[in-house]
Order: sequence, then C-alpha cells, then structure tokens
Amino acid sequence: MFKKILIANRGEIACRVIKTARQLGIATVAVYSDADADARFVKLADEAWRLGPAPAAESYLKADIILDIARASGAEAIHPGYGFLSENAEFAAACAAAGIAFIGPPASAIAAMGSKSAAKTLMEKASVPLVPGYHGAEQQAEFLQQQADHIGYPVLIKASAGGGGKGMRIVERSEDFAAALASCQREASASFGDDKVLVEKYLTRPRHVEIQVFADSHGQCVYLFERDCSVQRRHQKVLEEAPAPHLPAVMRQAMGEAACAAARAVGYVGAGTVEFIVDVQANGQPGGFYFMEMNTRLQVEHPVTEMITGQDLVAWQLHVAAGQPLPLRQDELKIHGHAIEARIYAEDPDKGFLPATGRLIHLHAPAENARVRIDTGVSEGDSITPFYDPMIAKLIVWGENREAALQQLDTALAQYQIAGVSTNIAFLRRIVLHDSFASSQVDTGLIARQAWQSLKWW
Ligand code: ADP
Ligand code: ADP
Ligand code: MG
Repeated sequence: MFKKILIANRGEIACRVIKTARQLGIATVAVYSDADADARFVKLADEAWRLGPAPAAESYLKADIILDIARASGAEAIHPGYGFLSENAEFAAACAAAGIAFIGPPASAIAAMGSKSAAKTLMEKASVPLVPGYHGAEQQAEFLQQQADHIGYPVLIKASAGGGGKGMRIVERSEDFAAALASCQREASASFGDDKVLVEKYLTRPRHVEIQVFADSHGQCVYLFERDCSVQRRHQKVLEEAPAPHLPAVMRQAMGEAACAAARAVGYVGAGTVEFIVDVQANGQPGGFYFMEMNTRLQVEHPVTEMITGQDLVAWQLHVAAGQPLPLRQDELKIHGHAIEARIYAEDPDKGFLPATGRLIHLHAPAENARVRIDTGVSEGDSITPFYDPMIAKLIVWGENREAALQQLDTALAQYQIAGVSTNIAFLRRIVLHDSFASSQVDTGLIARQAWQSLKWW
C-alpha cells in the first residue's frame, strides 16, 4: 500500500479521501488555491502546498504544478476526486509517465468514455442497450435534422464532450431543430471546446438509475448495485438514493451485468459509474434501460452505496490503485437497508437556484451517528466563494427501509441550521415531504412540474 498520497482536489471530497487515507495509515498531501488557504481540507491533511490564485484554471487544473508537488513531497499516488482533473486522460497519462499512480482508470479508458458519441459506439459493440439516436461523426445540420425527424420528436441534442447537465437541448418539433442545434453547438464550444453533438430520443418521464462498478488490474469486475438519481433540476442531481425504489431483482442484475460489460469493453480499472436512463411504464414500474454515459471517477453520490453495502469505496480505490485484488466477490456483496443523500447547496431556490456566496456565520449540523453522515468541506465561519461549486455539504441518511430513511432525512434536514448564505434546505424538505417522492413515484421531471403546477410548492 502507498505511504503517502496527494489529493488533487478541494472541499468535501478532499476531506473524504483524507479520512480513509488516515484510517489506512497513509499520509496525505493537500494542494490549495489562495481562496482555500484556511480551508478544512488544508487543516486536515498532513501537509499542504500552495497551487496558485483562486480561479481553477490557475490552481486546481494546473496539472504540471500538481505533478511537481507530488514529486517534491514524495507522494506515490494522486487521488483526483471528482470534477477538475478527474476525467482528464492527459493528466492520467502524465501521472503514469512520471511514475506516480493515478487513483483512477487508465488514461485509455478515460479517453474511450470521454466522448459520449464514441462511448455509445463502443457500447453498441458490447451489446449494451442504447436510447435510439444518432451518435456518429457526420455533423452537418441538414443531416442531423434528418436523423432527428427519423428518430421522432421530442429529441434531445447533447454535447458529445458534455458534463454537468450543460449543453443539452430538448426539441419538440422539427421546425425548432435548427435553432436548438446551433445554440447547443455554441454552448458546447464555449464550455468544452468541442461542438460535436449527438441526437437521441427524449424520454418524457424517465428515471436516472446508475450502477457503481469496480474493476481491478487482475481482470475482475463487480457491481455494487444501483443509485436512483431521478430527482434533478436542470439535469443536475438533487437527491440520490440506493437501492432504486421498485427495481426488480432481475433488472438490477441485468443492469449490473451490462455495466460490467461496459467497463470490460474499455479495459476499466478502479471505481466507475455507468449511468442508465430507465423508461417508466404507464403503471409506474420501470421498463427498459439504456446506456447514457460512464463517469470514470468516484461519484459525488458514492456515500449512499457505502451506506447500503457497508464498504468504503475510497479504500477500495486505494487497494486497486496499489495493484491489489478487489476486496470482495460479487456473491459477497449484499444490499442492507436504504440510504438517501441530499445535496445541500448555497443557492436561492426562489431566484431560479442562483448560486449564493457569503460567510457561514452560523452553522449547526445534525449529530452524526450510524444513520446520519455528513460529508462537508466547511466549518462555521468559512466562506462560500464564487470560484467553485457552491455545495455546502452532503447529508446522507440510512434506515432499515425507504420509509425509515425518509423519516431520518426529514428530521436531519429540520435540524440543519445555516445562517449567512441562502440554502436549499427548505426546498429539500419540501421534496422529501412531497407525495410523489414519499410514494416513490419519481422521474426526472418531478421538480420542474411542481415549480409551475403548484404555487404552494414554494
Ligand atoms: P455526478 O454525476 O457525480 O453528480 P457531475 O457530472 O454532476 O457528477 O459532476 C461532478 C462534479 O464535476 C461537479 O462538481 C461538477 O460541477 C463537475 N463537472 C462535471 N462536468 C464538468 C465539466 N465538464 N467541466 C467542469 N466541471 C464539471
Ligand atoms: P451529463 O454528462 O451532463 O451528466 P447525461 O447524458 O448523463 O449528461 O444526462 C444528464 C441528465 O439528462 C440525465 O440524468 C437525465 O435526467 C437527462 N437525460 C439524458 N438523456 C436523456 C434522454 N434521452 N431522455 C430524457 N432525459 C435524458
Ligand atoms: Mg451524467
């Protein structure tokens, strides 16, 4: 096992990785921007090195400086967290070239899954089911329009290099296609430096169900079941739970096996998430499932999987990156109870979820225990700055069943007190108490529908 690792990230995920490293007796090196000089993760780490000014492009995305610090500090491996350099194939390759272990998949697997279009072509070959659509190289507006007409409306145009819900356009009618395509291409160029798009059938009330996979360097691959992330706003996750409500055991197994096939198709090693979109049938039960994309990193919502399996996914990542075999076989993994995560953000739900900034003048979190876990990167007195994601904390709860977990979540949300910045806590409570969520009738349109159907929602 490694003696010392560098964490090329910040905030809650840096704290999360440090926690497990400490338990395994591994020393940690933090890297930080000027905005984070006094941050919690900097204090928790065994040593901390300055990267540069606050903007990510001048600090957390500076691959060469991070590698220099790794060498100078004697770190044997780099954990990239999520976001930033975590899905950057060149960075993974540069680590390998420098003789430093990248705690993630090989650069080739990141590259293979980095383009949604190319990934879909690979998945097709591996017999993983796809949403009907066009994901080829031809990018002529007229040609794409013909494809969309052929698929049938509504269709979704996605940036092939996209992420974080950016660059997606729903098109309801053929006559709107050209304008939507142009605007998607503009956003894709601006956000990802690549205007390539794909077009696929837009499912109107789907669920987002993703599979946690883990592969080692000895050819083994297992799945640690699913997470349902259907509660979203603007294609971004708000609440995540495991297991997925009403998912039949045969479907869980079929999705798990498809996800492992996807991982094997790209020579995957480490933790990964295969995201599927699931059709909801008229009777409210899940229908078909289709591959959307693979996130080649530890996912924000990994704690719900940890709560229902009793496993530490960061420990698994460290073992695998050190060349060890997976800690458990598929038949040794079991689901125990139900877990839900709520993402607590500094934002204003009444102003279109506008990100909020400011000092956390008062911060009182519910007490942590076997059923309540809080992953956070901030303490009372810290500030939420405009430079990074405005997430304050992840609140994760566990119960013997979904009803018990929901009750825990409502209680914990009620105990959370934050003053100094606007937060989405009251909004989260409303979703948790909403009939549709409480009765597991979830699909990705839940929040959007409530916003305009019922003024009382607010
Ligand atoms: P998850 O599925 O784990 O919620 P997301 O895809 O929403 O992950 O993104 C995880 C993190 O990475 C978030 O902090 C998000 O802001 C960031 N992120 C995702 N895609 C991009 C991107 N293309 N550019 C910059 N940041 C991104
Ligand atoms: P990102 O890289 O931004 O995470 P995804 O392809 O994973 O992009 O899609 C993000 C979200 O958009 C999904 O969780 C889902 O809610 C919605 N979505 C994606 N594809 C479709 C589709 N074909 N039909 C309906 N909704 C979709
Ligand atoms: Mg996604």
